[in-house]
Amino acid sequence: MSACTFCRIVAGEIPSTRVYENDRVLAFMDIGQVNPGHVLVAVKRHAENLYALAADDAAAVARASLAVAQAIRAAFAPAGLSVYQANGAAAGQTVFHYHVHLVPRREGDGMELAWPVQNPPRAALETHAAAIRSALAQLQGE
Ligand code: 5GP
Ligand code: ZN
Repeated sequence: MSACTFCRIVAGEIPSTRVYENDRVLAFMDIGQVNPGHVLVAVKRHAENLYALAADDAAAVARASLAVAQAIRAAFAPAGLSVYQANGAAAGQTVFHYHVHLVPRREGDGMELAWPVQNPPRAALETHAAAIRSALAQLQGE
């Protein structure tokens, strides 16, 4: 038996309220319901986070998220929708099995993400971008 809560949900060992599934993806109601209609779209095959995700599973989550987001909009007519996904405890991840949150939003609902902008000089953007481009080239060459 897996120690991972979401693997256990996928396997049906822990009850969940499902809204959609296919061979790669399971979408189910988040138990915390930040707002009514809050859904998690998780991969069926365990991957701890984005870095561990297979490209086909990433694509499957994206497609399922699109469909479920449209259904949430049709069912709840929220004023907005936040798509949230955390990787690592420092980013707020609490269940270490890749999933995307679809959270219906309304004005003044209390959901907040602090966004401490720093607006550095463009030279800093250039330096950061060069580091990322170089890493990309190296990774794609592998
Ligand atoms: P994270 O913080 O990792 O992005 O989000 C984990 C989410 O999983 C939380 O919003 C939490 O409410 C939800 N969650 C944790 N355990 C369970 C569970 O057993 N069942 C369901 N449906 N959701 C869970
Ligand atoms: Zn898992």
